[in-house]
Amino acid sequence: MEIKIKKAPLKNRKTKPVDESKLGFGKIFTDHMFTMKYKEGKGWHDAVIEPYHLLKLDPTAMCLHYGQEIFEGLKAYRSQDGSIYLFRPTENIKRMNVSAERLCMARIDEDLFMEGMKKLVLLEKDWIPKGVGTSLYIRPTLIATEAALGVHPANEYLFFIVVGPVGAYYASGFAPTKIYVSEEYVRAAPGGTGYIKSAGNYAMSLYASRIASNMGYTQVLWLDARENKYVEEVGTSNIFFVIGDELITPPLHGTILPGVTRNSVIQLATHLGVKVKERPLAMDEVVEAIEKGTLKESFASGTAAVISPVGQIYFHNKEYLINGGKTGALAEKLFNEILKIQYGLAEDPFGWRVKISDGKKS
Ligand SMILES: *Cc1c(COP(=O)(O)O)cnc(C)c1O
Repeated sequence: MEIKIKKAPLKNRKTKPVDESKLGFGKIFTDHMFTMKYKEGKGWHDAVIEPYHLLKLDPTAMCLHYGQEIFEGLKAYRSQDGSIYLFRPTENIKRMNVSAERLCMARIDEDLFMEGMKKLVLLEKDWIPKGVGTSLYIRPTLIATEAALGVHPANEYLFFIVVGPVGAYYASGFAPTKIYVSEEYVRAAPGGTGYIKSAGNYAMSLYASRIASNMGYTQVLWLDARENKYVEEVGTSNIFFVIGDELITPPLHGTILPGVTRNSVIQLATHLGVKVKERPLAMDEVVEAIEKGTLKESFASGTAAVISPVGQIYFHNKEYLINGGKTGALAEKLFNEILKIQYGLAEDPFGWRVKISDGKKS
């Protein structure tokens, strides 16, 4: 199938933001979007890049009632020579189909996904900001559109991709977060959907986030659902702790989202000679290590911020300071090294970058 391109008339194009320091996250979107449709028996059809527009949905579209909605998040980066890169996009494509499978949704054609995404980013390349840390955020989304109120896997789907410029997360330097360990609410249970990127996982996380926020904390640290004992994730990021000379992160046993950044951190840290352990880590062990002084630092990982240092943890009505509330050396090192790879400023020993334009006028 060929992807049709219907460009927005020039007179309808939006004004591009000029001040890159005011971009923020997820507020500005470009002039075009990619869409394609799926119908059982027909497969994927009508792949098109067209002007950004509102969606037309039947009020009984099944995504609105039973939550068949999944998404992804990745970025396109502009290097200093004008080249444009995606970072490990195949990982996001594969992960989205793992999510689709878990929610009985149509599997997305991987070639069309990649091609549609590349074509859209290239069409919108003038929207990609220039500063290191800024990027074009890419949001692929799949929703069930069949109009029916019976509970069953839908037989019609809409896949779309929207993109928009986002600012540097740490425009004014690292800001270590304060995290709140949720002992009452859980994010994901064994056998559930913790390992996929679905809207439902986010909806159910909001309540505990609000409690944390009302108490002055930035994020929730989730514990396992079975024993309420082991650390799992922080907010919508993966979590790492440095105890002694080891970098520790919980293993992927179905309740944790397999972050692309998490995997990149593990590979890069190993490459840098750091001992990395994927193993269960009890909150009691974390507290003990803090009290003994062997817990050196902690950080979260995710596409949006890359690395987000943790400066403080609230647990059992007590507040614990990590690394004096400051950013740790490893967090900073990993952040800088990953950014250099993403922006084409360093070798890419892992083959993570995908160049989609060499910056020359085409
Ligand atoms: C997206 C997400 C992450 C981070 O994944 P990346 O691929 O690194 O962006 C971690 N945890 C949850 C729950 C997520 O939704």
